[in-house]
Amino acid sequence: MATTSDTPAPGPVRTCVGCRARAAANELLRVVAGSDAEGRPALVPDPDRRAPGRGAHVHPTSECWQLAVRRRAFPRALRSGQGLDTALVEQYLTTHAPPPEPHEHRPETGARSS
Ligand SMILES: [Zn+2]
Repeated sequence: MATTSDTPAPGPVRTCVGCRARAAANELLRVVAGSDAEGRPALVPDPDRRAPGRGAHVHPTSECWQLAVRRRAFPRALRSGQGLDTALVEQYLTTHAPPPEPHEHRPETGARSS
């Protein structure tokens, strides 16, 4: 499906808890309060948006993530108190982060002369 910017978003719109911009829910990463592998309370990425309960939405970029963390937006949005571990989402963002500058000049491949 092509996305065009001059038609209303087809799906639900959510607000990024980082930059506070509104965006289609499917452009944002849903984050829920869950637990990590050791059972400690943690923020858990929910890319399929299927996890039950309250979710917070953030652009899947480290910029918005950092903003949201600094503002303590997640504990507030999730009503889950503080002390939620952020490692799972950070890991997710590291693995799934979009390339920062798609049109930036590429690292030189071959053409090595000294
Ligand atoms: Zn954002």
